[in-house]
Amino acid sequence: MTVRHEAETGSEGHDLEVWIDQDLCTGDGICAQYAPEVFELDIDGLAYVKSADDELLQAPGATTPVPLTLLNDVVDSAKECPGDCIHVRRVSDSVEVYGPDAA
Ligand code: SF4
Repeated sequence: MTVRHEAETGSEGHDLEVWIDQDLCTGDGICAQYAPEVFELDIDGLAYVKSADDELLQAPGATTPVPLTLLNDVVDSAKECPGDCIHVRRVSDSVEVYGPDAA
């Protein structure tokens, strides 16, 4: 049986998702200031990503798609994150493109 993965590369950025390593989050809230549509602090004082319909995804390491319109804000969050714990990766191959593990 042949399984073929077709690249879904319609537009750059459409294929990206973001997740947070809560173990390293300092809870300063910078990400939630940059991109409140994507990041939010929970009552435990740590940042989590939100789903497209604004639901806080409280599972550690949960991922959410990065909307193209918010790509810059999410990338800036990853760059400024004091905990170095915001990871942006391609959905298709899970390669990190922004964040501490990016090449
Ligand atoms: S910027 Fe980084 S360290 Fe700060 S709250 Fe967001 S994920 Fe946590």
